[in-house]
Amino acid sequence: MANVSFEYFPGRSGEATNLLQETVAVLSAYQPEFQSVTFGAQGSEKNATFDTVQALARSSGVPTVSHLTYSGLDRGQVDAFADALWEAGLKKLVALRGDASFQNGGSPAFRDTAEFVRSLLEAHPFDITVACYPETHPLSESSEADLEVLKAKQEAGASAAITQFFFDNSVFYDFVERARAFGITLPIIPGILPIHNFPKMCKMAGKCGATVPEFVKNAFADGHCAGSTPYEISAELLKAQVHDLACAGYETIHIYTLNRVPLADVAAETFLDAHKDLTRAVA
Ligand code: FAD
Repeated sequence: MANVSFEYFPGRSGEATNLLQETVAVLSAYQPEFQSVTFGAQGSEKNATFDTVQALARSSGVPTVSHLTYSGLDRGQVDAFADALWEAGLKKLVALRGDASFQNGGSPAFRDTAEFVRSLLEAHPFDITVACYPETHPLSESSEADLEVLKAKQEAGASAAITQFFFDNSVFYDFVERARAFGITLPIIPGILPIHNFPKMCKMAGKCGATVPEFVKNAFADGHCAGSTPYEISAELLKAQVHDLACAGYETIHIYTLNRVPLADVAAETFLDAHKDLTRAVA
């Protein structure tokens, strides 16, 4: 059955926390398979993540999942966080390396993310999702090395992978094909980023190694000339992207909401409606 999941980050002020609660209340209407809460770089917001996961699970009734990164934390801190999640009944998590501080002197809690996944599973039988990179992680030696890392995470026991955001679906389809040929069998869930602010998104894409294709750049340039608002341009791009994923047979998308309803709702609604239309057409 077609489904969506939503990603949030912890509110950094009372006002931001209220906005997050309102967003979650609205987006819960799409009955997401789960919603996830990010973990601040170097564990900077680990208490905020834990509190947010618990608050959102209670208030929305939606299965809520914590991200957990090990970069910048010692083994004891990681284990304590994982134990606390398990004891709170949070049995699914997104396990990640995080952006490294140990490159600047510290030593990592785990040799790699596969070892991290294995260690989490030795402690508790979590359902673990990991990350993957259709356009290759910017620090990876090669696309093949990146697939090796994903395969190692699968072999360590990860049950699914969510992709870094991308805009050109053909890049994603090609990645899935290469991953399958490499022996990667776990579900690969497309990560979808609504564009709220084009220049900011371009900066973020640069850091993440995600390409902003010409057709996206042209849509903003041409749309601007034709008098469309940035919201209208983003909504059209998003609708086309998720409709195409539905038609290609993808049953789930993960939406990076940036804690906002607008555009996340467009992505969810378009994707779920496209699946309803496809089901009706087959019946
Ligand atoms: P790995 O699986 O360990 O590696 C993936 C690839 O990156 C491999 O090719 C690996 O070789 C390469 N790589 C990564 N780091 C290094 C390094 N230091 N040296 C050499 N190669 C390296 N970050 C957060 O801080 N908090 C979050 O909540 C969070 N959530 C995310 C959710 C998703 C779905 C995605 C896609 C990313 C998220 N990130 C988050 C970002 C993530 O932590 C970074 O992309 C990180 O650099 C890699 O994490 P990973 O678990 O994918 O790494």
